[in-house]
Amino acid sequence: MERTRKTAERWDQEDDLSRYREEFYLPEGQIYLDGNSLGLMSKRAEQTCLDVLNSWRKCGIDGWTSGRYPWFSLSEELGKKSAPLVGADPAEVIVTGSTTVNLHQLLATFYRPEGKRTKILADSLTFPSDIYAMQSHLRLHGLDPGKHLIQVASRDGQLLDEEDLIAAMTDEVAIIVLPSVLYRSGQVLDMKRLTEAARKRGIPIGFDLCHSVGAIPHHLHDWGVDFAFWCNYKYLNGGPGAVASLFVHDKHHGGRPGLAGWFSSDKRVQFDMDHRLVPAADAGAYQIGTPHILSLAPLIGSLEMFNDAGIDLIRKKSLKQTRFLMELVEQELGEWRFAMGNPIEDERRGGHISLAHREAVRICKSLKEKGVVPDFRPPDVIRLAPVALYTSYTEIWEAVRILKEIMETKDYRRHKARREVVS
Ligand SMILES: *Cc1c(COP(=O)(O)O)cnc(C)c1O
Repeated sequence: MERTRKTAERWDQEDDLSRYREEFYLPEGQIYLDGNSLGLMSKRAEQTCLDVLNSWRKCGIDGWTSGRYPWFSLSEELGKKSAPLVGADPAEVIVTGSTTVNLHQLLATFYRPEGKRTKILADSLTFPSDIYAMQSHLRLHGLDPGKHLIQVASRDGQLLDEEDLIAAMTDEVAIIVLPSVLYRSGQVLDMKRLTEAARKRGIPIGFDLCHSVGAIPHHLHDWGVDFAFWCNYKYLNGGPGAVASLFVHDKHHGGRPGLAGWFSSDKRVQFDMDHRLVPAADAGAYQIGTPHILSLAPLIGSLEMFNDAGIDLIRKKSLKQTRFLMELVEQELGEWRFAMGNPIEDERRGGHISLAHREAVRICKSLKEKGVVPDFRPPDVIRLAPVALYTSYTEIWEAVRILKEIMETKDYRRHKARREVVS
């Protein structure tokens, strides 16, 4: 069925989530399709940021225990608010550190090479920071990353096959770290199935949820995932450098964190200043030092919005939006041979669309100049992420119209084929 601008306008009118759009600061004159890299600022996030600044101004040191959002328990409070987004019990999530630091913490805790079980199992398409972290833990244990880091290959360079990942879960593997959604192709891995396979073999498994949190529902607790970690500045709109999160399944609670600090303490005794650490009985034990309160503040407002809207409705709209975008690409851009790099099936598709084209770098520059904000991932991928809380169907239609115009006029040829420092 032919898709038109009218289709988009009608869907915008029928959309249950459209009221959230006006809660965001939408960059003027832009269609923002980069919320999978940095989510936009909402008025609620701005407000809670101001509230926290205000408690610093008014309360000084007493802001730790008074004011609107007492800082001492803010990481735990936000952990509770994040739990529904990942299918966790409230005590299993803590908002702390940064994504990569949290991975370091979790590797320090769960990577226990012993006998012939020394290897870390990962994949060849994952985000570089995760790989660097895994390599550094191998080196700390005196192991050669070339031999002990197994990166399962992709058959086509874009997608991973769960069969291949499971086949690599041998008795030499000490820990598994995989992405929930691949950052380039947007493929959702079958976390439930992978976790079951790992559990049968007695291997702890964890997931990097950076590209799925806030876009798709998870059931970490029920699946029996051992640990997970994610950033809060992409789909969750927590602001640049927002404090990140981690999940530790409650079957592991009561243990000792690999990397300890005084914020790992049971809060009731933290200020006893004893040199013997009593770790918190929940995911709070994986904190290290004083929380970055000003980078937690926007999350108070932002997470509240996700809990109001509900992740299931968000996922439903996101799928409808990415499907619409794919249909329009097929309908309008057929002759320019964009290759669809993302999975087509709903269950395997994350929150963004991945279009491969030889001229991707230049096309991205042209799009940006004309007010459509995509992002580019080497070597040839244009990522487009409609975000359920603030992107309209009409914007999707308009973005494809502009892309078509760029291809028809070959406008991209005016640009240099070199990517920017931040892309
Ligand atoms: C964005 C992203 C990161 C970022 O890590 P930081 O420590 O926040 O810089 C890590 N992993 C994946 C998969 C990401 O998409």
